[in-house]
Amino acid sequence: MSNWEQNEEIQIFREYLRIPTVQPENSYEPCVAFIIKQAENLGLPYKVDRPGGPDKPIVVITWQGTNPELPSIMLNSHMDVVAVFPESWTHPPFGAEMDSDGRIFARGAQDMKCVGMQYLAAIRALKNAGVKLKRTIHISFVPDEEFGGKLGMDKFVSSDVFKNLNIGFSLDEGIASPDEVFSIFYAERSTWHVHLKISGTTGHGSLLHENTAGCKLNYVLGKLMDRRQEEVDRLKNNPNLTIGDVMTINLTKINGGVQSNVVPSLIVAVFDIRVPLNVDHDEFVKMIKNWCEETGGGIEVFFEFREPKIEATKIDSSNIFWTAFKSVFDELDLKTRELVFPGATDSRLLRNIGIPALGFSPMNFTTVTLHANDEYLKAETYLNGIELYKKLVLKLANA
Ligand code: ZN
Repeated sequence: MSNWEQNEEIQIFREYLRIPTVQPENSYEPCVAFIIKQAENLGLPYKVDRPGGPDKPIVVITWQGTNPELPSIMLNSHMDVVAVFPESWTHPPFGAEMDSDGRIFARGAQDMKCVGMQYLAAIRALKNAGVKLKRTIHISFVPDEEFGGKLGMDKFVSSDVFKNLNIGFSLDEGIASPDEVFSIFYAERSTWHVHLKISGTTGHGSLLHENTAGCKLNYVLGKLMDRRQEEVDRLKNNPNLTIGDVMTINLTKINGGVQSNVVPSLIVAVFDIRVPLNVDHDEFVKMIKNWCEETGGGIEVFFEFREPKIEATKIDSSNIFWTAFKSVFDELDLKTRELVFPGATDSRLLRNIGIPALGFSPMNFTTVTLHANDEYLKAETYLNGIELYKKLVLKLANA
């Protein structure tokens, strides 16, 4: 075994990974106790708030700057991880075992327990070096991101506790990249869950009724799938586009009918739609409603979830935090690509209230295994990430 076993930061990381935080079976409390222990070891004050309920703790560790009235920097990570199917893993998912290549296997190794501990490691190194920062840093650990953040970040951002933190910029998770280029995420698409409640003529299954729910479904589904195909083609034909730049439309559920020989009076079709930045929300809703009308009517468009348009974080010289962030990569001659995140993260909730937020996980040359079996991160990648965060924190906090 290499000396990674003895490395203090690797030990802390692996200890964190061994705390199972899959909801709802497990409690967050052991995780909170572990983070509090880290704060105490760093000699930094912390607070635990529970705006989403007694079982939804948020821990904020604070390193005060020399100029605390300046807007502060938030380093956010979520404590929860997604479910595991241990029978499909070659290592126990909460064992944090390390192989001879230094690969550490555990749920959360990439998403995103690595980042939470790397923030703390960077701050430990800066503190030990006697560095003083201008802006205050808040390192936050939030619950339930994997459930959309409803009882986590969503509740937190509207609390007075959050407002009093005076956050000016936030860092949160990104995704690993298999090549040398680091991915930086500055925006997200808007998530919509749309139900089409399609009513139609009911009757015996042996006849040819007009305006059946099935006929209407066929028409509207055809329109949506045509639009989907346009997006498939756009993505295929333009190498500059990634999945975050196009609209995704997927039929996710269909319900309806009572009996095989009766034409149903109601069919409900549910769609997961991710709306990219360049699409006008109202225009697109109007288009869906027009298609519904073209069937002869009788279709109710119901939004189970409709996320508003959220402005992207500016990645130009008008954003001093972007300039500070990017300068670290430029100085080290590290390549970056700026992307729209394909899924949804807590960053959207900060952008939604006007706080610039970037998604970044320092994992290049890394196979993407988030949410997958045998999720892992190499010890070397983890330690390199700490070095990067040391420079990023320094630049951001002095911006
Ligand atoms: Zn995550």
